[in-house]
This record gives sequence, C-alpha cells and structure tokens, in this order.
Amino acid sequence: MLQINRERFLSDFEAVSQFGATNDGGVSRPALSEPDMAARNWLKERIEAAGLVYSQDTAGNQFGRLIGADDSRVILTGSHLDSVPDGGRFDGALGVLASLEAIRVIKESGNLPPLSLELVNFTDEEGTLLGLMGSRAVVGQIKPSEFENPRGGRSHLISSMDRAGLTEAGVMNAKRDDIAAYLELHIEQGKRLLAGGTDIGAVTALVGIRSYSLHFYGQAAHAGTTPMTERADALWAATEFIQKAKDHIMKHYTPGVVNFGMIEAHPGAFNIVPGEVVLAMEFRHGSDEAMDNMAADLLQLAHEVTNTDNLSLTVENAASIHPAPMSDLVVQAVETACTQLDLGSMRLLSFAGHDAQSIAQVAPAGMLFVPSVDGISHNPAEYTRPDDMVNGANVVLHSLLALFGKLV
Ligand SMILES: [Zn+2]
Repeated sequence: MLQINRERFLSDFEAVSQFGATNDGGVSRPALSEPDMAARNWLKERIEAAGLVYSQDTAGNQFGRLIGADDSRVILTGSHLDSVPDGGRFDGALGVLASLEAIRVIKESGNLPPLSLELVNFTDEEGTLLGLMGSRAVVGQIKPSEFENPRGGRSHLISSMDRAGLTEAGVMNAKRDDIAAYLELHIEQGKRLLAGGTDIGAVTALVGIRSYSLHFYGQAAHAGTTPMTERADALWAATEFIQKAKDHIMKHYTPGVVNFGMIEAHPGAFNIVPGEVVLAMEFRHGSDEAMDNMAADLLQLAHEVTNTDNLSLTVENAASIHPAPMSDLVVQAVETACTQLDLGSMRLLSFAGHDAQSIAQVAPAGMLFVPSVDGISHNPAEYTRPDDMVNGANVVLHSLLALFGKLV
C-alpha cells in the first residue's frame, strides 16, 4: 500500500514554517507580504524539484501539475500558505504540504493518473486583502466593487498586489472551468476529533450564517414607582427569549449554534425600566433546510415572549451566507481512504470558512480535518501532532486515488 514519505513531508513542513516565523513558535505571513512572497518562492522551487509543472494564475494562485492520461480535467488539491497576523503554523500550510506530498508519491509510483492532478496554494484565504480571494477568483466571483473598500484598506491591497505583480483585471479574470473535483486537508480548529479519539474528520458541509436584529418594545417607566406586576420591561422579554432560544437550539439543532452577541437597552439608565431592547442574533448550521427551520423556531419563540398587550417585536434581516455542502463523492473518498488506512473517521460540519466553499460552487468539493490540540487556532500555540499530520497526508493520498475510480 502506498504511503507518504514521512521524513520528507515533516521536513518540508519545518521549512515552510520558517517563513514569517515568530519567536513564540507561530507565523505571521499575511497574504502577499514579504514572508508570504518568500514562502511562495520556496513552494515554486519544491514544485519544480518534484518534477511537477509549475504555474501561477492572474489571481496569484500557485499550481503544481502532474499530467494525467486525460489532461482536459484536473483534480485540484491544496489549501493556502497565507496566515492571519501572529497566527499558527498549521492553518493552511499543512494542507498545501500534505497535497504536495501526496502528488509526489503518486508521481513516484510510476502510474499515469487517469486525469491530471494539481496542487494549489490559494491567495489570501485569510482575508487580510479580500478574503478567499484566490479561490473566489477561480470560480469567477470577485466583483469590481470589492477593490474599492476592502477589509484591510485599498492602499494595502494595491501595494500587496503590486508586490506579486497582480492587477484588479487579472484577479477578476482568473476563472477556470476544468476542475473535476477539489480536496483540501485542514486542521480542525476545534476539539471534536480529539474529544472523540478520532483520527480524521470528513467534512459534510461548511456552515451557513444568518443574522437578525430583534427589537423588543415595551414601555419605559419609573423604576421605583411602577409596580413589578405592571411593568412592560423589554429586557425581561429579551432575556426570557435568549434562555428559551439557547435551550431549544441545544435540544433540537445540535451541532447547530446560536449566539446573541450584542444587546442594547433603551433609554439606558439605572432608574428607567427598559422600553426598547435591540438584540443581535446569529446562528449557523450545515444546510439551508436546517437554517430555515432554526429561523422559524427562533422567531416563533421571540413572538411568544412578546405575545402580550404591552409588548411587541420587530425583526430585521441583517445578513445571510448559505451553507456550502460538500460533495458525497469526496466525503466517501475520504471515508474509503480512512478504512484502507485503518484510521477512525467521523462526519462533521466545519464552523469556519475555507477555500472549499468557493470551489464547491463549480465542482464536487470536500475537506478532511486532522485534530487540533486543545482546539487552538489563529494563535501561535496552534498545534497538530506529527502522527496526525502524517495520517492526514496519507488520507489525502488515498482519497485522490479513490477519486480517480469515481471520476473516470
Ligand atoms: Zn485555513
């Protein structure tokens, strides 16, 4: 049975971790910064040394291609080398190097793949520039307006793009339509795998996010002279709703989550019964159906607690991001690989965003997670054990081989 080369893989990981290394063991390698550019040069050399065909598209995505019998379609596999400022070594970089190693081993096996395989390092997954910039460019989703007022400021965006020789027109014209499937290894960034003693997570969906502003209306009143039995306290209603919503979601929608991240009471004084409360509500789950049901239940609960003569409720839709279901084809390939390698796996949702959600819009996409010690991520203390890194890379290798069987 084919196995990845453990020493080579771990030593490559050590090498890439030096780019932007911080003295607390993390990395600071924001997209297209000097350390990121150095890491990208290093990756280009490693791709060429492996005998793969190197290329870079007009969004700065880097590729390493192993040409197969059918070179009109590719299985894309990889992740991102950029990091958040003062982040950890493993987020993104581990997936890129696991895919590089898997493709090298397939090449060395001497068997011509039935279709081409391509390593990818996506530009700016973390969003110090635009967010999922490279992967959204590949599916033709970057809009001109995004360059006007980006998250990190326009001058930072333009100077970073200049450093890599990228242009706005280029980023908007990087769409491709030859992707047969996409596979990404990533650290879990949570504790579910370690808690379950499970080696590998097969991701079934990246969750969607919906948010609402709820306005609870009562009657502002004197906090001393108004008897408790006669108050229309908007905050009492809001807090009753929060408790009921928490219980309901935990009971009926686990692993879905709900959050009340902001609350304002008006007029806002020690001695006035709150007459109005504004509550920020956000919830996440893995399918549109689950999200629709959560929305209906939560709004019904909010209406129930305000269903009296002296209370009322209005609801504003704040934002909505659809869940990104992963492809059964890829989920099953990951599970097949785990069985072959005698590794335990569990299906789970990703509560963080990843490049896979972009590619899922145009091709069967899937992800596998490896355990994160203590669930820590976006932090220099982020850590994944070497055995788990190696297990993950072997699962990438055998998932790719399983996908050949499914796609040809
Ligand atoms: Zn990541």
